[in-house]
Amino acid sequence: MAKKQLVVIGGGAAGFFCAVNAARLYPELSVIILEKTSKLLSKVKVSGGGRCNVTHACYSIAEMTRFYPRGASFLKQAFHHFFTTDTIAWFAERGVVLKTEADGRMFPVSNSSQTIIDCLLNEVDRYGVEIRVKAEVQKINIIHERTDSPTKLSQRKFSLQLTNGNAIDADFLCIACGGFPKAEMFQWLNNTGHHYSAPVPSLFTFNMPGNPICSLMGVTVSDVQVKISGTKLQQRGPLLITHWGMSGPAVLKLSAWGARELAGKNYEYTILINWLPEYNENSLREKFQSLRFELAPRKIVNKNPLGLPAALWEFLLQQCGISEEIRWADLPAKEQNKLIKMLCSHELKVKGKTTFKEEFVTAGGILLSEINAATMESKLVEGLFFAGEILDADGVTGGFNFQHAWTSGWIAAAKGVGRYLLPADSTVNTV
Ligand SMILES: Cc1cc2nc3c(=O)[nH]c(=O)nc-3n(C[C@H](O)[C@H](O)[C@H](O)COP(=O)(O)OP(=O)(O)OC[C@H]3O[C@@H](n4cnc5c(N)ncnc54)[C@H](O)[C@@H]3O)c2cc1C
Repeated sequence: MAKKQLVVIGGGAAGFFCAVNAARLYPELSVIILEKTSKLLSKVKVSGGGRCNVTHACYSIAEMTRFYPRGASFLKQAFHHFFTTDTIAWFAERGVVLKTEADGRMFPVSNSSQTIIDCLLNEVDRYGVEIRVKAEVQKINIIHERTDSPTKLSQRKFSLQLTNGNAIDADFLCIACGGFPKAEMFQWLNNTGHHYSAPVPSLFTFNMPGNPICSLMGVTVSDVQVKISGTKLQQRGPLLITHWGMSGPAVLKLSAWGARELAGKNYEYTILINWLPEYNENSLREKFQSLRFELAPRKIVNKNPLGLPAALWEFLLQQCGISEEIRWADLPAKEQNKLIKMLCSHELKVKGKTTFKEEFVTAGGILLSEINAATMESKLVEGLFFAGEILDADGVTGGFNFQHAWTSGWIAAAKGVGRYLLPADSTVNTV
């Protein structure tokens, strides 16, 4: 009997994970990956600055879902099938040990994304997955195939048209083509009948052209609160001043949570930074009263008792017109008020964004309401699965986006395609 064929569109993290797991778990399947470029796993290669931040050391599903601005409740269901612990075990089983950094990001101990690529390519060889590069799918035709047996699931077949003129048939199809930055790039998926939410960039840094604060490039502050004026968006965490504006985890998290709202503002808005987030203006005013007393004879510029980087402290004093000669005891009330205001609510204008080279993703994609989270199968077309960034789910920086790719790729293979191949109630081994 001819083998049933699973075709996976996309040679990225999600596509590979779906393909190698399907081939491993179901030897009766023939599995093919179609990749439109000549390169496989190209994002894995450059990810995490060439080190590949594979996942995050988070072992609670409830906590994990807080890192996904879009798709959290969908992923909550999905993580019950394949979670961070499964990713770690899966790679360990294949000799790839992951280490955890202080901020929870997990990388291969080799510090090289090539280790992950080699591991996935080994699995391709081991289980006989066929790979075709320069194979761009331009159209998906869905062929209706009815079954008369009431016990069997009725199923569709697929016929794919490639831009190189070739055609290929599939019994099962997994679309793992990554995110698309423009709405028109979703058109080739129209035949599937699926809908998508419009794509906008996520994980970007803030541009502040001409702002004097950029002279502090390279300065990092370990804990600040950043708010977007006129919205409910706010985040706390480390901040990095760059030669074009602001970056660092607090800013990247804001860009992810505010991806749609900030796109709506055409990336022009005002941010308010609290450089000392454990204080508000009132509590800081009280602190200043005691500081004036304790540090009375010392020059303010020399004595920064609030733990801010010296260059930033000097900059803020300058901005408030506080002379280098002024001592704590002599600080005029007006300047003090100005400084307190600036420390707790520093207003800065943002105009434009810059892609964060370490990691960026597209927010938006195939509507999750049309996908079953336990199988990654389309609710509209049987035998059709989706995995990875093409779905309308995305995380903040830190390994969350790859975890989504591994989880959805594994589920599409093991639980999705497996649904048609396994007897009911069978269990599958995650590793
Ligand atoms: C620079 C950078 C660094 C990153 N670093 C990290 C990180 O360290 N940790 C993390 O968690 N996330 C990181 N990310 C995000 C992560 O890379 C993505 O979320 C992840 O790669 C998505 O995997 P995917 O398989 O869904 O899509 P992709 O990796 O984009 O793969 C999709 C593949 O499908 C192919 N394709 C598209 N259309 C077709 C078609 N019609 N026919 C055939 N093939 C097609 C594409 O060419 C592509 O190769 C990073 C992203 C970038 C851009």
